[in-house]
Amino acid sequence: MCFFCHEKEETNNHLFLHCRVTAHLWFKFQSLIQDPWVVPEHTADLLSCWMKRGGSKT
Ligand SMILES: [Zn+2]
Repeated sequence: MCFFCHEKEETNNHLFLHCRVTAHLWFKFQSLIQDPWVVPEHTADLLSCWMKRGGSKT
């Protein structure tokens, strides 16, 4: 079970993207950078998106 919410299985996609605790952090982050985006289904999609937007490949 997820360490934070104790509601779902602790997969990396849940822990880093979809957990209600993590979702709150993403919401805060998006508010700070003032660049809203849709949280993708998988962490690999998030990393791919960041790299396309100019992130580091290392
Ligand atoms: Zn959770």
